[in-house]
Amino acid sequence: MTGQTATTRTEIGDPVGHRVRLKTMETETICGEDQSVLDAFLRANTWLPHGCSQGTCGSCKLKVIDGTVDHRASSEFILTAPEREEGIALACQATPCADLLVEPLADIADDGIVHHPLRDVLGTVSVLEDIARETRRLVIDLDELMPFNAGQYVELLVPGTEIRRQYSMANSPAETGAIELHIRRTEAGAATDGWIFAHMAVGDRVEIRGPYGTFGIGKPQEEAAILVAGGTGLAPMKSIVHAALAEDLVPELWLYHGGRTEQDLYDVEFFTDLDTRYEQFHYRPVLSEQNWDGANGMVTDAVLNDFDTLKGLSGYLCGPPAMVDAGRKVFKRRRMAPRLIHQEEFTDASDVKVS
Ligand SMILES: Cc1cc2nc3c(=O)[nH]c(=O)nc-3n(C[C@H](O)[C@H](O)[C@H](O)COP(=O)(O)OP(=O)(O)OC[C@H]3O[C@@H](n4cnc5c(N)ncnc54)[C@H](O)[C@@H]3O)c2cc1C
Repeated sequence: MTGQTATTRTEIGDPVGHRVRLKTMETETICGEDQSVLDAFLRANTWLPHGCSQGTCGSCKLKVIDGTVDHRASSEFILTAPEREEGIALACQATPCADLLVEPLADIADDGIVHHPLRDVLGTVSVLEDIARETRRLVIDLDELMPFNAGQYVELLVPGTEIRRQYSMANSPAETGAIELHIRRTEAGAATDGWIFAHMAVGDRVEIRGPYGTFGIGKPQEEAAILVAGGTGLAPMKSIVHAALAEDLVPELWLYHGGRTEQDLYDVEFFTDLDTRYEQFHYRPVLSEQNWDGANGMVTDAVLNDFDTLKGLSGYLCGPPAMVDAGRKVFKRRRMAPRLIHQEEFTDASDVKVS
């Protein structure tokens, strides 16, 4: 259900909307004046490339061939003045001022992956527990099913504000009636310190928007895969491991999880058990600031030490931007093909960087 080949026109119920056409895909939708172009297409189940949905990664850049947009909160570092003059816009930020004809800069050829439409769903907190240092597991039972792909994320609306924050699903995509999230506290952070670690309680109602994102092993692949996670970057990896083992997506799978000390590790028993039960799955927790029986050092260096070559393997990186950068370097140093490297950076409001 990519919805990308047939001509479609979707009303969103917004009386003030503009017609937005996607060049080459023969697809169009109606986009409200306060709605981002990305939001309009994803709701209409037309897949557009995107990453963070908050204007920090730049993966959703598109060319506005005809019409004008309001760039809204687009940062000048991510979307430069020359780019704006050329008609480039961030699909996750730009809203239409007129009817538009647009073309994403990234390839939008059919990737053979089933995508699910973006939607707003309400849910109720059913589990809220401390699982590691400054880290909580949050399970939200959804009022209606929300299909997603392993590796995708949702946005949570911070109550009483217009702030939305992204969190990756950790549960199996076969469970569509609830979402499991792993959330790390950010000092003075609006969503974490101000809500999830402050006064959120079991039984609270939560406004959710999703699914978003392109990270994950979307379909069976011939290459073995290495997953490298830092901190709560383990969340999408857990979902990917669920899917990869259940659907036999890869011939062999390594999961590296990095923390400073044992207090940063979680779900160790879960992954150790999988490692024992599945011959093709290998779990490697790595600590950077504590000597122990397991691997020591930076999680990315553990990969470097364990493999002489990564030629012919695919790699998946998730966590803080610095860890993801280091992981890319290690993968390339060990000769992994750039097209086989996939990443999800947990950028936050302070991560608007010079691209
Ligand atoms: C695709 C994606 C998936 C993610 N998945 C997860 C996940 O599964 N688990 C997880 O723990 N996290 C995840 N994150 C990170 C998460 O979305 C939040 O960024 C994080 O929880 C911090 O949110 P907060 O509201 O608590 O902090 P914020 O209020 O956003 O503050 C974060 C930092 O930014 C600074 N800051 C705030 N506003 C500004 C500003 N205007 N300018 C400059 N600096 C500012 C703050 O001082 C602080 O240091 C993900 C991020 C992305 C993009």
